[in-house]
Amino acid sequence: MQRLLGMALALLSAPGAGSLWAQDHEGHGHEPKSVPEKAALQPLVLELGVFALANEGFLLKSGGQSVLIDGFVAEPYSVYGSLPPEVLEQMMGGVAPFVSVDVALASHYHRDHFQAETALSFLFAQPDCHFVSSPQVLTALQNVATELEAPLPEQQLQELFPEPGERKRFLKGTLLIEFLHLSHGTGRFAQIQNQGHLIHINGVTALHVGDAAMVPAHFEPYQLSKRGIDVAFVPYWYFDDEDGRTVIQEHFRPAQLVACHIPPGELKAVTKRLAESDPKVIVPSKALQEFHIKNLN
Ligand SMILES: [Zn+2]
Ligand SMILES: [Zn+2]
Repeated sequence: MQRLLGMALALLSAPGAGSLWAQDHEGHGHEPKSVPEKAALQPLVLELGVFALANEGFLLKSGGQSVLIDGFVAEPYSVYGSLPPEVLEQMMGGVAPFVSVDVALASHYHRDHFQAETALSFLFAQPDCHFVSSPQVLTALQNVATELEAPLPEQQLQELFPEPGERKRFLKGTLLIEFLHLSHGTGRFAQIQNQGHLIHINGVTALHVGDAAMVPAHFEPYQLSKRGIDVAFVPYWYFDDEDGRTVIQEHFRPAQLVACHIPPGELKAVTKRLAESDPKVIVPSKALQEFHIKNLN
């Protein structure tokens, strides 16, 4: 027994034992004296490829997995943009970067985030893709299928919508997505089922909040500041608002911020404003613009 314990302790104190995260990014933690395989002792840095789409639409890819969120926007809505026709064609044709999307999500059913006709065509084109969203979004999909006299790809659909403060999870392979209840606001927005998504893909954590109202108390139950968010996709109006900035600083605390949902007509002005106030924020300027996020948080 003593001997076994001794062996276990020796293993635990050996350089490189245990998690690759045993030391933090500044290199604290035990510093090995002799380094047989130095590379194996570095924190495991994984990378997420992000492709901007329209408004709050993004395609996330890493480690052979991919998630599409708020991507089904074929037509402009109000002052907001849509996917350029050639990008829509790539999406529907399953051409790179849209090859084998594992999961598609929609934060809520406003047409600047989700257009049911486009979603339905995409799900027929990619029968292995799961589409997980709220009852409102799935009802819109069902209504369009009925209208078009098309079948509903039920085996690809899953309805999820948490209560306020509750969290629901969807797992596919090693891909984990947490669904958060984040109110769209008051008045006519109170009835909208808006959800936030915490997407864990290949060791990287991404937060997408849809059109969540900038109310710090709404985020309180989710303790997002403790979740090590690598990248947060945030509507641009958060940066111009005191409560919005509080939410970003006290709740999201991401390693990297991406400003989104910018009307095409305001893109130039917003980009200039953010370059002055928050120069580290990524502001995508066109569809399929690609950037990379590391799991450093
Ligand atoms: Zn909305
Ligand atoms: Zn919106």
